[in-house]
Amino acid sequence: MGLHGKVAVVTGAGAGLGRAEALALAAAGASVVLGDVSPDAADVVDEIEALGGKALLVRGDVSERSTADELVSTAVERFGGLHVLVNNAGVLRDRMLFSMSDEEWDTVIRVHLRGHFLLSRNASAYWRDKSKKDGAPVYGRVVNTSSEAFLLGSAGQANYAAAKAGIVALTLATARGLARYGVRANAICPRARTAMTEHVFGPAPQGQDPLSPEHVAPFVTYLAGPEAQAISGQLFVVYGGMVALVSAPVVE
Ligand code: ADP
Repeated sequence: MGLHGKVAVVTGAGAGLGRAEALALAAAGASVVLGDVSPDAADVVDEIEALGGKALLVRGDVSERSTADELVSTAVERFGGLHVLVNNAGVLRDRMLFSMSDEEWDTVIRVHLRGHFLLSRNASAYWRDKSKKDGAPVYGRVVNTSSEAFLLGSAGQANYAAAKAGIVALTLATARGLARYGVRANAICPRARTAMTEHVFGPAPQGQDPLSPEHVAPFVTYLAGPEAQAISGQLFVVYGGMVALVSAPVVE
């Protein structure tokens, strides 16, 4: 129970990786505020409560400032603080670059990059203020969700690849700028079969199980935990040793 007494915010917690992350953090003892646009996320609150954990849902779009505000204020006012932020919410609008619409570009950049920014900004402000008030470093952990697409590109996902590159830079800036207040920030490039990524991954290589969100979540719990105190500004490929280079099917 390495996160006993800690409070976590997890975005995109209604499905896939975010759901597994929320469950794993709760199993480690954290109270979890789940953020998601989807009403299905209420089922994840029920799952956590059925296991004896504490969870609350804030429904809304993470790229709206009001949602980001409510996620942090719910953690602080209902659970007494904020210690862990896991940014995971995302959408895809795959299309080859030559025919990608403005809306497809803007939506993906907005949900991923602005969503990560708003939550990171709000959590950082809370941690900076708390550290100054207490006169001591806080317990603050950020785990952001990037993708190998930021480095290798991905045909038909220029919007997603660009957002994921921005998330790496945001993570490094967070790690560097907030270290003095006690905050640690890292990013993962996960490979997990979810509703969002199903169309991207081919069959698992022979002899290998396809990685599921439940394989990735324990590492996020580790980064969120007290033992990761010395780890910040790092990017982790959580791929089970598989070769990267997946690509979305071409949508012209
Ligand atoms: P993955 O687990 O691979 O990230 P999923 O599609 O399984 O992908 O889950 C993504 C989650 O993010 C879903 O629960 C979805 O409802 C949520 N989500 C998508 N867009 C937003 C948004 N703008 N604000 C909050 N949550 C979002």
